[in-house]
Amino acid sequence: MLVIKVGGRKGLDYDAVCADVAKVFQGGQQLILVHGGSYQTNVVAQQLGHPPQFVTSVSGYVSRRTDRRTLEIFEMVYCGKMNKSIVESLQKHGVNAVGLSGIDGRLLEGKRKSAIKVVIDGRKRVLRDDYTGTVVQVNTELLHLLLSAGYLPVISPLAISFESEAMNVDGDRAAAAIASHMNAEQLIILSNVPGLLREFPDESTLIRHIPAAQVEKYMSYAEGRMKKKVMGAAEAVQQGVGRVVFADARVADPVRSALSGNGTVIE
Ligand code: ADP
Repeated sequence: MLVIKVGGRKGLDYDAVCADVAKVFQGGQQLILVHGGSYQTNVVAQQLGHPPQFVTSVSGYVSRRTDRRTLEIFEMVYCGKMNKSIVESLQKHGVNAVGLSGIDGRLLEGKRKSAIKVVIDGRKRVLRDDYTGTVVQVNTELLHLLLSAGYLPVISPLAISFESEAMNVDGDRAAAAIASHMNAEQLIILSNVPGLLREFPDESTLIRHIPAAQVEKYMSYAEGRMKKKVMGAAEAVQQGVGRVVFADARVADPVRSALSGNGTVIE
């Protein structure tokens, strides 16, 4: 079992990624695709007159401020445009893909944060109307049902809270939760960088290998949203995923390139 997460940054060629995903899937590999959508969400939010806001937690993590309106925009872009265009592309490449969000069939279930402590203009504040959370449970039965019938699940990282509210969850950590609950051998995280860079943005400083036991030590190299990727990788390897790879979505055959050892390999 292979879990692939493709990021949501500007300029990623999803069709090229889907073509390669299709090749690997058609080669007999069971796989699940999780996708991002941050860039498109920002564009649509601007167009709808509800521009994105980002908040920094007291522990230094940057995340999207998700009020109810933002959550709805999230649903439009992730579950709508992004998910359906990826499914369309996979269908064109001959794969019977099925798009689902974590809300559907309680695929990704978890804990909504009742209050998040953030720093705004140097001052601590508590936000209580935020629809963000973390994945605790994965409906593996539903995924096995689809996989055993030959479908390729394409998952948008929205989740459902234990109280049945939709919420925004981090895509990398959601992919990590799916990989560990599905006992995947491998999790590949594709984005617009060649992997974890020792001196971002200098691509010649790519870290090629991280022993699983030391992944948290490498957190210091990651800035901003890259921290969540390293955190997701740490969670995945701690929970039994054999190998996590951060790799470049922009190269030719990005999935096969990552499978052959390119990128940052954590094992
Ligand atoms: P995606 O939307 O593809 O999941 P993110 O924006 O969440 O991607 O994270 C990838 C980004 O993290 C890169 O585009 C880069 O700007 C940033 N980054 C910060 N620190 C590093 C680092 N040390 N190595 C690589 N990328 C880094």
